[in-house]
Amino acid sequence: MSQSLTLKIARIEKEAAAVRTYWFKHRLDAKPGQFVMLWIPGFDQKPISIAYADKKEFALTVSAIGPATKHLEKMKVGDVLGILGPLGTYYKIPAKKKLVCVAGGYGAAPLYFATLEALQKGCQVDFILGARTKDLLLYQNKLAKTKARVHITTNDGSKGKKGLVTDVLEQLCASKKPFEIMTCGPELMEYGVFQIAEEYKVPCQISIERYMKCGTGVCGSCSVDPQGLRMCTEGPVVDKVLAKMIYEFGKYHRDATGTKIYYKK
Ligand SMILES: Cc1cc2nc3c(=O)[nH]c(=O)nc-3n(C[C@H](O)[C@H](O)[C@H](O)COP(=O)(O)OP(=O)(O)OC[C@H]3O[C@@H](n4cnc5c(N)ncnc54)[C@H](O)[C@@H]3O)c2cc1C
Repeated sequence: MSQSLTLKIARIEKEAAAVRTYWFKHRLDAKPGQFVMLWIPGFDQKPISIAYADKKEFALTVSAIGPATKHLEKMKVGDVLGILGPLGTYYKIPAKKKLVCVAGGYGAAPLYFATLEALQKGCQVDFILGARTKDLLLYQNKLAKTKARVHITTNDGSKGKKGLVTDVLEQLCASKKPFEIMTCGPELMEYGVFQIAEEYKVPCQISIERYMKCGTGVCGSCSVDPQGLRMCTEGPVVDKVLAKMIYEFGKYHRDATGTKIYYKK
């Protein structure tokens, strides 16, 4: 059940140059893949994936890219933020299966949370973590402390294998088909993962992010073509059968005004 709260930032961890993890001492009862609407007083409210949650605390990992998130970056321990959540759908994690997580950018955070649950359920997890360059890789240290097999890729070869996360995914699928793939990251990366999942006939769960204003299914700003599914309530996590029906997946998204923005391939 979702809660509407104001909470003090209990701890801040620096993950990368413009990326911070904010910890809150509160039981949120969230599942991996769900998000909160984070209200940054005086600025805006933004959807942010839940990076960790247990009975005592939860965490959000935020990349400072625009006005609201850049303001958040300046906030300190003890400052108050608004939280509405948990919201949306989540990764359905089976027990005792071979899973592959494919993450890019802050997508590492919700998939780290999913990996913890999967390992607890006795799954074997291959975690493919990618970034353009080594300084942008997130959650390496956290993942290294788990029993997941971590595969790192960078576009420029500055760390791990030079290339794309999808190169490693293709190799893993070709050597031994996983039971399921879970992905979160930039949409073109997710689309590449979806295409491999289709080719190898492996089930896949994808977090499809759209511009969200309310986060609760009222405003319709995150509706996708052609069905009008709202990604804040019928998503963000969808399986590949549903993703295939979302015509705009991998092609375009809409900005705050509803204008179509085509992805540059
Ligand atoms: C379900 C969901 C979960 C998310 N989880 C996280 C997370 O864990 N960590 C994190 O750092 N960010 C996350 N985001 C993205 C985050 O909400 C945006 O980065 C944030 O809105 C940026 O706010 P801003 O005001 O700083 O910048 P803005 O001025 O709002 O945006 C800066 C740029 O990012 C683009 N943008 C903003 N939001 C989106 C979107 N949803 N889809 C496509 N483009 C967008 C804008 O068009 C603009 O180009 C998530 C988004 C969704 C929908």
